[in-house]
Amino acid sequence: MNAKEDLEFAKEHRIAPGKRPNLKKLDTKVRGPFDDKDDAKAFTAETNHKIRDLQYRMFVEEKQSLLVVLQAPDAAGKDGLIRKVLGQMNPQGCRTYPFKVPTKEERAHDFLWRIHRCTPAAGKVSVFNRSHYEDVLVVRVNDLVPKRVWKDRYKIINDFEHMLAEAGTRILKFYLHISPEEQLERFKKRLDNPDKHWKLNTGDYAARDQWDQYREAYEDAIEQCNTDHAPWHVIPADHKWYRDASVAAIVYDTFLSMDPQLPPVDVDLDEIRSLYQREAAELGKASSS
Ligand code: AMP
Ligand code: MG
Repeated sequence: MNAKEDLEFAKEHRIAPGKRPNLKKLDTKVRGPFDDKDDAKAFTAETNHKIRDLQYRMFVEEKQSLLVVLQAPDAAGKDGLIRKVLGQMNPQGCRTYPFKVPTKEERAHDFLWRIHRCTPAAGKVSVFNRSHYEDVLVVRVNDLVPKRVWKDRYKIINDFEHMLAEAGTRILKFYLHISPEEQLERFKKRLDNPDKHWKLNTGDYAARDQWDQYREAYEDAIEQCNTDHAPWHVIPADHKWYRDASVAAIVYDTFLSMDPQLPPVDVDLDEIRSLYQREAAELGKASSS
């Protein structure tokens, strides 16, 4: 087995519980064990197939579920990661939920109300494109609620995730870690491509001015809400191909540890075989007469 088949390379992105990640120090340009972009893409394609096989098993097993939480600055690649990895799962058992600025109805409830209705049922996968963490990130940085309100949310989030885990949901949380230089480069590509103009907004530039406040808010969230049943990973995201390969490796590794099983066979196989043979013989007779 070479280093790429080994899933170990991605494990270094798991933040140890209780540890505060230093996002300024963590490299955004990791290349891992891959020779080049094509090499990483081949690994991702192969791993996506393996993920699909295990997702199928979990879907029919109907006992466990998987929740994938994606958080990132703008243009860090949540949409691309969904397109190239997470969205490659069978849509019968996998759904993506984007969380935007809360609607009037959502704001009239507690902050977990809109989240809880999107968590996965047994057998299913939910992918959150942004999540309940916005309520301790954008909400904190932009003073949308008083500090005494967002401060209590870390514990509320931990209790919520603990409850989901107790109910059979595995939770994986990914922060896509992009450098401000790479982000600006991607904003430029959006400007240069009319198909991407719909993505442009001045708020993205306002958030750049708040880069340090966001970094601090992310470091707090990752430090305070990082458990064995709901771990955070900081994914180097300046290379899109590395981002995809490392998340695919972690998702696959998680499915392997969940070890979903096909249900036991509770029919008489000999009886089904003889029913099949009878039908096949009749069809043979009909087509030869
Ligand atoms: P995007 O994901 O780029 O389409 O943008 C969605 C926007 O919704 C982002 O600017 C988020 O910060 C914002 N958003 C998501 N959840 C919340 C929340 N709970 N409160 C305020 N803004 C939010
Ligand atoms: Mg955006």
